[in-house]
Amino acid sequence: MINRKSRDEIKKMRYAGHIVALVHKKMKEVLEPGISTRELDSIAMQVIKENKAVPTFLGYNGFPGCICTSINEKVVHGIPSDTEKVNEGDIIAIDVGATYGGMVGDSAWSYAVGKISEDKQMLMKATEEALFAGVAQMKAGNILDDISGAVEDVAKKYKLGIVRQYGGHGVGHTMHEDPFLFNYRVGDKTMLKSGIVIAIEPMLNLGCDEVFVEPDNWGVVTKDRKPSAHFEHTVLCTDDEPICLTTLIE
Ligand code: MG
Ligand code: MG
Repeated sequence: MINRKSRDEIKKMRYAGHIVALVHKKMKEVLEPGISTRELDSIAMQVIKENKAVPTFLGYNGFPGCICTSINEKVVHGIPSDTEKVNEGDIIAIDVGATYGGMVGDSAWSYAVGKISEDKQMLMKATEEALFAGVAQMKAGNILDDISGAVEDVAKKYKLGIVRQYGGHGVGHTMHEDPFLFNYRVGDKTMLKSGIVIAIEPMLNLGCDEVFVEPDNWGVVTKDRKPSAHFEHTVLCTDDEPICLTTLIE
């Protein structure tokens, strides 16, 4: 059962999404070779608190950070660390959640640190394209599999691996609500209706599909150690065009 958000809930989620977008804006500004992922986390925390929101990730299943920082072959759920610094040529996926008025916004973006390889450029461009192909399907009357299929088609076009074990999700009062959204077709005919909010988040790999979880029980890494990219928006389904809630309110 997927619940549809009320006008008031959506208003709060829009503001939570704005705060998440403010964090991403800040991350882009401060990201440079030599900065540690823990410093990034502290800056993100500051932005979230300044805006009177709560960092959704902190303490979620015991997660020790406000953001997930996943560099190169790390796919998702990287724990910020004092000793881990970003280097020229890296790509880093930063995933952020903010809760405002009890409602959650969730968005991830991959960033280039300095000059990156052509392979990594293609991977990032393709994964962002897959996100927006998925977003475009978030229309009342479509089915969940339309989103999954749109993401899969872009991944296939660029011959990229698709992470199977993780995917998008409903979002609202908590970060993970029904439904689970695969990044490839599974035949899910669940109908999309206006008021449904889903975090759409392709995770695509330059190599194989397979990933494993690191000994810290959080970090997810590609099995062949090739780079991975991650882009995510929290998206509202309407009778008209879909609305990305995790963007700046201008
Ligand atoms: Mg996220
Ligand atoms: Mg998410």
